[in-house]
Amino acid sequence: MRLSRYFMPVLKETPAEAQIASHRLMLRAGMIKQAGAGIYSWLPLGFKVLRKIETIVHDEQQRAGHIPMLMPTVQSAELWRESGRYDDYGKEMLRITDRHGRDMLYGPTNEELITDIFRSHVSSYRDLPLTLYHIQWKFRDEVRPRFGVMRGREFYMKDGYNFDVDRDSAIHAYNRHMVSYLRSYERMGLKAIPMRAASGPIGGDDTHEFLVLAETGESEVFYDAAITDLELGTRAVDYDDRAQCEAIVRKWTAPYARTDETHDEALFAQVPEAQRRSSRGIEVGQIFYFGTKYSEAMGATVTNDEGQVVPVHMGSHGIGVSRLLGAIIEASHDEKGIIWPEGVTPFDVGIVNLRQGDGDCDAACEALYGGLRAAGLDPLYDDRDERAGAKFASMDLIGLPWRITVGPRGLKNGVVELTSRRSGESEEVSAEAAIARIA
Ligand code: ATP
Ligand code: MG
Ligand code: MG
Ligand code: MG
Repeated sequence: MRLSRYFMPVLKETPAEAQIASHRLMLRAGMIKQAGAGIYSWLPLGFKVLRKIETIVHDEQQRAGHIPMLMPTVQSAELWRESGRYDDYGKEMLRITDRHGRDMLYGPTNEELITDIFRSHVSSYRDLPLTLYHIQWKFRDEVRPRFGVMRGREFYMKDGYNFDVDRDSAIHAYNRHMVSYLRSYERMGLKAIPMRAASGPIGGDDTHEFLVLAETGESEVFYDAAITDLELGTRAVDYDDRAQCEAIVRKWTAPYARTDETHDEALFAQVPEAQRRSSRGIEVGQIFYFGTKYSEAMGATVTNDEGQVVPVHMGSHGIGVSRLLGAIIEASHDEKGIIWPEGVTPFDVGIVNLRQGDGDCDAACEALYGGLRAAGLDPLYDDRDERAGAKFASMDLIGLPWRITVGPRGLKNGVVELTSRRSGESEEVSAEAAIARIA
């Protein structure tokens, strides 16, 4: 992309309404624009990162054997009356009346809708296990929408639902979700810690939240420092292998890690003192096993291998796709701007032309731009007629992992400057070597 033809309305001033770094930086980098309280338009740069995060989530869910689909945003109140949640959900639910006077709602989550789909089409244990998921906009009329996309009213969420014939099989689904979530967060360059949580309005027996440590997080968290050393890495995971998934979950849930809702001082005291940590965290996902709560209320049953009709065991599993942008920036920025992890960066590399309009510089930049694209990379070329200082400031603000600076002095010696956003270190190399380094 050539910046002169892109739409990236960078702000010079720090917006006064933004209280935390991620919100400020997303506004300043021209990633989002507020459309109403807790409601945002995703401008091209923000949309690009949103799509990258979404793609990682899709990828890892499908790797785990979960099936993508899409349910609507607007739902009928009927199903929610059946489950009993129409009244229970309270004011967070945005209620709508259509022209015929029918009660509708903008979905805050989808347990009812998916259970209805399931009961309409599945009746035998032979069709199980089944896990369906979608990534769709949600609306929750939050009391205090704030921190930009971090606590929006309209937000983008992946929610998946497993249907299993018995508890053991459902626990395997739970474990698959934990492993695939850990993997997804790692690919986004995030350390998200699974913490035992309380269940809330979804209802459940077994639930973990995934928290990213950040001072601006809304949850208070307590954990054993040992858990921050765990890394899944690129190890091969066979998601059909119950023992393997369970072993990973056991390892990741062995060290003490809880939010204030479930924190237990006595248990925490057993963690060696030097390893005890308390800080704040951002909830970026949650998994639930809730047994037969919805299937019993809504009559979602299957015939088991003994011919008995039993309610299916279910769980629901969410990832805050839009909140993740905020969480990643909270975890990775400095005073100059965002520092994108490679897995989610909107562009792979920025090209800064120090002397736009100079024949040699322009030609060298064009060649570099073409070379990077030929190497399968996605470069952003700052070809605007701007001062070098302004170009550098924009690049630092939007936080691409690499910057290549092209100027007349370097070109005389056959080199460009390659700079890492994270370390700030620069080296002078040939254009070819710069491409090779990034690819
Ligand atoms: P919170 O405790 O932050 O209100 P929640 O526990 O109500 O979140 P869940 O029902 O567990 O949320 O939804 C799954 C995920 O969706 C959350 O882990 C979070 O990442 C994301 N999410 C929830 N509410 C919002 C919101 N208002 N804005 C952005 N993302 C949200
Ligand atoms: Mg909530
Ligand atoms: Mg919560
Ligand atoms: Mg939650």
